[in-house]
This record gives sequence, structure tokens and C-alpha cells, in this order.
Amino acid sequence: MNGRVLIIAGSDSGGGAGIQADLKTVTCLGGYAMTAITALTAQNTEGVTAIHDVPVDFIKEQIRVVLSDIGADCLKTGMLSQPGAIHAICDVLDELALDLPMIVDPVMVAKGGASLLADQALEALTTRLIPRATVLTPNVSEAEKLSGLSIQTPDDMKAAADILFTLGPKAVLMKGGHLDETSEMVTDYLYLNDGQCHVYEGERLLTRHTHGTGCTTASAIACGLAQGMTLQQAVKRAKSYVFEAIRTAPRYGRGHGPLNHGH
Ligand code: PLP
Repeated sequence: MNGRVLIIAGSDSGGGAGIQADLKTVTCLGGYAMTAITALTAQNTEGVTAIHDVPVDFIKEQIRVVLSDIGADCLKTGMLSQPGAIHAICDVLDELALDLPMIVDPVMVAKGGASLLADQALEALTTRLIPRATVLTPNVSEAEKLSGLSIQTPDDMKAAADILFTLGPKAVLMKGGHLDETSEMVTDYLYLNDGQCHVYEGERLLTRHTHGTGCTTASAIACGLAQGMTLQQAVKRAKSYVFEAIRTAPRYGRGHGPLNHGH
């Protein structure tokens, strides 16, 4: 086992997304996963029925005790729910004066439509958390919300990434899965703040069992960085891990079922 990843995110009782997907991903990729839980969701493959936010002092305490003892090689953030959670995370990282790589997955809305980030939290996300991100991993609708642009083409993605770079992340992975859902291919773009762009193209798998793909991608990248991979290597491995996890997904539930992490 190598590579310590501290995951700061919400729990999915259905086991498909959130903390549960993150733990499975990091474990299956050979890393060591730790968690600071920001919110509990009651959810299944059909959607989220309730959210219980963890008190901010408790979020801080989870981060503080883990980092001051076990330590971490990379951080990953997922569902943050409330502005207070974002401030708490940034405050405790400042307090510990740690400069760790951090993957920020700007989780906003679940596939079933539930909001996983309060509207009032957008400012804290853009002014406090995203500036610290080593990699920001928005899908198209998250990129639209963060950039204020409407995204229809790959050129729009580039324009949105340029706006996101003004917030301060070192890299932006734009996930194109929702761009043209009739296309047989899915293209993701990894933009670096030095102007480089790496393109990752893969076959689209036609299935509704894709719950947790965003969480899984971000955690796989975090695990790769924690294990000493370059960002390009980590993204490449993450893409093939997610592809296989979707391809072999167990088809559980009536809605968007979970991925298969045991492949
Ligand atoms: N629930 C939690 C706790 C999450 O963190 C996320 C996504 O990041 C989701 C649900 C939504 O996952 P999906 O959009 O893949 O259904």
C-alpha cells in the first residue's frame, strides 16, 4: 500500500458516490484512504431523500487529528454542502500550514437532481477553496455555473477553463461526458496553467449505471498524485479505472446504479 489520501466529502448511504466511492477507489488503486465527512446523505440509486450536515467544528477536528498524526500525501474534496464547511476546511489547512496537493471536485447537484451545495456556498468555493486546488474537476454544468458561460462546444470549454484559471487552480480537468450525449466518444480536457492541454478520448458506454463517476475520477487522480504519479499519468489511470468500473457495473437499483470497484 502506498499513497495517503485524505478525502473531505459527503457520505452516500447507497454506497455509490461520495465517501463510499472515494474509499473504494483509493483502496482498489493501492492507496490508503482517510475521511473527514462533511455531510451525511440518505440516498439510493433513485436520489437523495435527506441531508444531515456535520457541524463545522467536527469537520475541522476530523482533518486536524488525521493530518497531525497519520499525515497525507494528497487531499480530495467532494460534497461540501454548506459555506461553513468550506471555511472550516480552509481555516484548518491554514492553521496546520500544510501545502498538500488537493483535488477539488466542485460537486453541486446529484444525478437525481438534489442540491449538494447551497447556493450561498458558491462564493466560498470560488474565493477560498478553488484558489488552493492543484486540480479542479468540473463537469460541464459545474463549469457553466463557475464560469458563467454556456458551454456547447470544446471551444466553450477552453473559454470556461480560462475563466476558471483566474480563480487560481493549477490545472482544470473539464469532463466532457455531458457535452454531446449523442456522440459515441467522450472527451475530457486537462488544461494546465502554463497553457498546455492534454486530451483524453474514450468510448461512451451507454448505461444509466454511472452513479459516482465524478467522485471516483477525482479520488483516482488524488490517489495517483499521492503515489507519486505525474498529473497526466494519474488522469490516464483514473480514466481507465472509471471506464472499467462503468463497463462492469452491477446494475443494482431502479435508478442510477453504482460502479464496480472490484474489477
Ligand atoms: N452523493 C454524494 C455524497 C456525492 O458526493 C455525490 C457526487 O459527488 C453524489 C451523491 C452525486 O453523484 P452522481 O452525480 O454521480 O450521482
